[in-house]
Amino acid sequence: MADYTDILGQENIIRYMKEAAKTGKLSHAYLLAGPDKSGKMMLANAFAKALQCREGDGVPCDHCRSCLQADNHTHPDIIYVTHEKSSGIRVDDIRKQVISKAPETPYAGPYKIFIIDEAEKMNDNAQNALLKTMEEPPSFVVILLLAENEESLLLTIRSRVMTLRLQPVSFSQIRDFLVKKNGVSEETAALAAVFSDGAVGQALSLAKSEDFQDLRETALRLVEEIRDWDTNDIIKAVKGFVDYKPVISEYFDLLTVWYRDVLMYKALQDPDRLIFRDKALRIVQQAKESSYHGIQVILKEIETTKRRIKANVNFELAMETLLMTIKEN
Ligand SMILES: [Zn+2]
Repeated sequence: MADYTDILGQENIIRYMKEAAKTGKLSHAYLLAGPDKSGKMMLANAFAKALQCREGDGVPCDHCRSCLQADNHTHPDIIYVTHEKSSGIRVDDIRKQVISKAPETPYAGPYKIFIIDEAEKMNDNAQNALLKTMEEPPSFVVILLLAENEESLLLTIRSRVMTLRLQPVSFSQIRDFLVKKNGVSEETAALAAVFSDGAVGQALSLAKSEDFQDLRETALRLVEEIRDWDTNDIIKAVKGFVDYKPVISEYFDLLTVWYRDVLMYKALQDPDRLIFRDKALRIVQQAKESSYHGIQVILKEIETTKRRIKANVNFELAMETLLMTIKEN
């Protein structure tokens, strides 16, 4: 089922789409631009379904034959352009799946809709081929381009599409959605919301990811226990970090969220504002034990270590310095 009611945020785009489907005042080509897992395909699906629906009034009726076909991805006039993962979208893909089909009158619906996901993967030849169809499109053709990075599309393409940019969804909207609609715990929901940068799909997959939970546990163990560690414990921990090298940046972000929580509690004494809510007691305790200065030193050192590791300094040495700083502050 693809429907606007399933989409969080993006109110402006949805308002536009409803109006366009209702009045039939359409552009021949749209670019839905937004980060990975931010909801581009959900919007495209709902828009295509609404445009083809014969009973809805700007929104899909959800029960006509067209709507059912749209849900099953078997609608003959909603075409999802596919490509080989390895090669990107080539001119042949565009010729076979778009250019040759565009002139044919729709079989069932009023429109012939082409959905091109990962449009930035079209090479220049493919984009130029598509441009020809976009310059003189048959009246019933609607092309939906989905892209993370609109700059990678040729200017000639960008000047011929109507661009709809997805907006980041707010932290509290995502958190509440994860808790209420997906049964995620408050703390995991809050963390996933912070890490998603406002992309709902990203938050959802983080909340369900075991790797993310594992990383969270590891980070929590460190911040909760490090004050009691001796040098040997620290050396052992540093060796263990080698396994986390590919996700070390997320690990640092978790530490940052933790120490921001400590700082926030110290300043406002309001447990409701914590991200690590389940650990409120521990945070309250650390806020009492640490000075403002000490927490700021830690936060700064996390940033510095992140930079150092990106610049390829000795990984273990950088981690050891960080852990010592955390322990001592
Ligand atoms: Zn319908």
